[in-house]
Amino acid sequence: MSVPQFFPWQVEVAQQWLGQRERFAHAWLVHGLAGIGKREFVVAAAAALLCEAPVQGLACGQCLACGWLEKGNHPDLKRIRPEALALEEGAEQEDDEAHEGDAAPAPAEGTSSSKRAPSKDIRVEQIRNLTPWFNRSTYRDGYRVVLLYPAERLTPISGNTLLKVLEEPPPSTIFLLVADAPDRLLPTLLSRCRRLPLATPSPASAQAWLAGQHVSNGADWLASAGGAPVWAKKMAEGQSHPCPEWLSGFVKMLAKGQVTNNGQLADTLAKELPTMWLDLFQRFLIDLTLSVHGQTPRYFPVLQPTLAALSARLAPERVSDLAEWLNQQRWVAGHALNGKLFAHAVLLRITSVCQITAAAPVNSSVRR
Ligand SMILES: [Zn+2]
Repeated sequence: MSVPQFFPWQVEVAQQWLGQRERFAHAWLVHGLAGIGKREFVVAAAAALLCEAPVQGLACGQCLACGWLEKGNHPDLKRIRPEALALEEGAEQEDDEAHEGDAAPAPAEGTSSSKRAPSKDIRVEQIRNLTPWFNRSTYRDGYRVVLLYPAERLTPISGNTLLKVLEEPPPSTIFLLVADAPDRLLPTLLSRCRRLPLATPSPASAQAWLAGQHVSNGADWLASAGGAPVWAKKMAEGQSHPCPEWLSGFVKMLAKGQVTNNGQLADTLAKELPTMWLDLFQRFLIDLTLSVHGQTPRYFPVLQPTLAALSARLAPERVSDLAEWLNQQRWVAGHALNGKLFAHAVLLRITSVCQITAAAPVNSSVRR
């Protein structure tokens, strides 16, 4: 383990930002495209803020604070994230109320709280349980840093509780919130944070980084991740092709005009986050739109021949209607109660649009 570092494309902006430390705002919203390394950015920023002897604004890796950060247990750092995400990130249930025994309310229901499914939201208790920590003085008179991600997972109640904290901020405390889509946050909460937008790195620097991470065909992976290198790397580690096989298989069947087995695919999709696969369908639709207008695909260059075959049968206005409908499903995706039903609905819509040809089939052309 070493002290958390910025990605190469973040170093310059981080140094400029951290350089204004004397007048540093107490709450920041770090936002930008999904998969560009925003979470790693705030973790490295926390290290730089807590380090006792920063070098050019960045964590030195040598001091006592950096030693704590390397081991992942600096007492002046808290991560507020949904429990499900914390488990995914390898944490034990430690930054939750279970740890703050004195402040934790007894479980409301008769069932044991340890038996419930890990929450996908940031719960109000997680914000409330910070109060005793705020009241303690910081170690060695430094900052105290709260990392909160993804801010979209704040519930209305936890969001309002956080807002009250930010209205009367505890001393020496810096909040770093992370969001892909700030427009989905409470406007009052937004008004309490300074914004730090993070740009998507240039294709050249993203590809150079991917090559350094031993990802081959970096350009294809980067295209399919919409230019987001951290996501591209994650995809390259988790799947064998830049376009997921379920998606290329589905598009191939659409292109052939075959009746697709949506049930099986809906089962596959139901195991993933709806926002993830919906995003891939939206990218497919952007590529299909480009293809209908005779242009090359942007996200899935590998699908070009298939998209060309499919788009030859489709009227452009039907494709744009479908793209618009998919955009409207984003809200549903974040709130879908039944992932499988939602997947079915999306597949049915795409299938019904793509299997109707631009020109109605003329009987004379039918051969048997
Ligand atoms: Zn240090």
